[in-house]
Amino acid sequence: AKRSGRNCIYTFDPSIQQALVQKLELEKDLRHALNEAQFELYLQPQVNSGGCLIGAEALIRWNHPQKGMISPADFIPLAEKSGLIVGIGDWVQEEACRLLAGWKTHPTLAKATLSINVSEQQLRHRDFVAKTLNSLNVCGIEPAQLKLEITESAVMLNLDECADKLCQLKQHGLEFSMDDFGTGYSSLSNIRALPLDQLKIDQSFVRNLLEDKSNQTLTQTIITMSEALGLEIIAEGVETEDQKLALEEMGCHLFQGYYFGKPLAYTDFMAYVETAGA
Ligand code: C2E
Ligand code: CA
Ligand code: CA
Ligand code: CA
Repeated sequence: AKRSGRNCIYTFDPSIQQALVQKLELEKDLRHALNEAQFELYLQPQVNSGGCLIGAEALIRWNHPQKGMISPADFIPLAEKSGLIVGIGDWVQEEACRLLAGWKTHPTLAKATLSINVSEQQLRHRDFVAKTLNSLNVCGIEPAQLKLEITESAVMLNLDECADKLCQLKQHGLEFSMDDFGTGYSSLSNIRALPLDQLKIDQSFVRNLLEDKSNQTLTQTIITMSEALGLEIIAEGVETEDQKLALEEMGCHLFQGYYFGKPLAYTDFMAYVETAGA
């Protein structure tokens, strides 16, 4: 054990040590996960007021050979810390384009969008623009069908650089959604510096929408703001019909959440589309 300061001895508590070892093991496994094809994109439907499918969000899952399905909340932070997120993010983009290629002649999905999550390091990579365009080109995908979800925290540290990259992609027709909107610390002028198409209301606002008056006020403000800025608005984490109706009343007409469908493995998503769509 090491000494830090006067009375502090760390890496002594066995439970802390155990947690650390587990984390390191997971990180070691994560290094092989890409090569071993252990990742999978789950798709969650996005619908309009009439319940028609307009697109989906791709959410990554890690199929660990021993531990089973691991949620992104448990490995994305690790991937970000270790830099592995860049390779994983590239795979997500390529896989999303492969899925989109399979939709080209589909009656319901030919015009649907597929949203993917882009992390800060990915965005900061100098080849981000080229890699994104290349993924689209390889599969012959209409750029407007791939929507990039970015968070406020991912762009605000390097706002000018990010705005420049997004503008380059925008010129090719890609669209952008500001994810988890309302939870960050960005100012309105920061938001306006980015070529956004959509704001995504964070699920924390939706969760207590009916009970919490101040949440209602905030949500209404976000929706009104999106209208003023000419941005599309979508709510995530919609779990009940009452939440959907309340959001509609406030002027939000695009939804994503368990009420409409959970994230599904690709074949399950396609089956869902057959029964719910058209
Ligand atoms: P996110 O982008 O905010 O994604 C929404 C999360 O909410 C997803 O969790 C989704 O499964 C969950 N969700 C959807 N509808 C509902 C609902 O009605 N109720 C509740 N309680 N939850 C709902 P998931 O799939 O575990 O992903 C967690 C986070 O991991 C994502 O949050 C995103 O930040 C990150 N993530 C997922 N896939 C990727 C990826 O490919 N790349 C990167 N960089 N991050 C990813
Ligand atoms: Ca997202
Ligand atoms: Ca989100
Ligand atoms: Ca979130």
